[in-house]
Amino acid sequence: MENCIFCKIAAGTLPARIVQQDEHVTVFHDLHPQAPTHLLVIPNQHITSLNHASAADEALLGRLFSAARQAAQSQGIAESGYRLVVNTGADAGQSVFHIHMHVLGGRRMHWPPG
Ligand code: AMP
Repeated sequence: MENCIFCKIAAGTLPARIVQQDEHVTVFHDLHPQAPTHLLVIPNQHITSLNHASAADEALLGRLFSAARQAAQSQGIAESGYRLVVNTGADAGQSVFHIHMHVLGGRRMHWPPG
């Protein structure tokens, strides 16, 4: 997608603090962290939101979870705990329309979320 900032980060044409990357998934630090550790996990290929994913994307969606687990381990928050968030659509506050999983950790999370 030409004007998608997360496509550009995955392609390396927009700078980001990348934590890990493979041919399917990129993990990088959120620009406006909401916790001491705040990462974003994205598929390299464009999927607008979870509503736009299909059965053919199931393996890729699974890779997002695996990458989140690996990144949590490498960032040292796996044992203390972390929260995964996938905002989908307007009511959830999705602001970037390339599916992404937030990985939040390094502090105690509140429940319910706001
Ligand atoms: P969401 O509101 O769930 O769509 O989350 C989008 C997230 O992307 C927000 O937490 C933003 O801070 C983050 N973000 C937006 N632009 C960038 C960027 N260029 N690099 C890193 N994170 C970004």
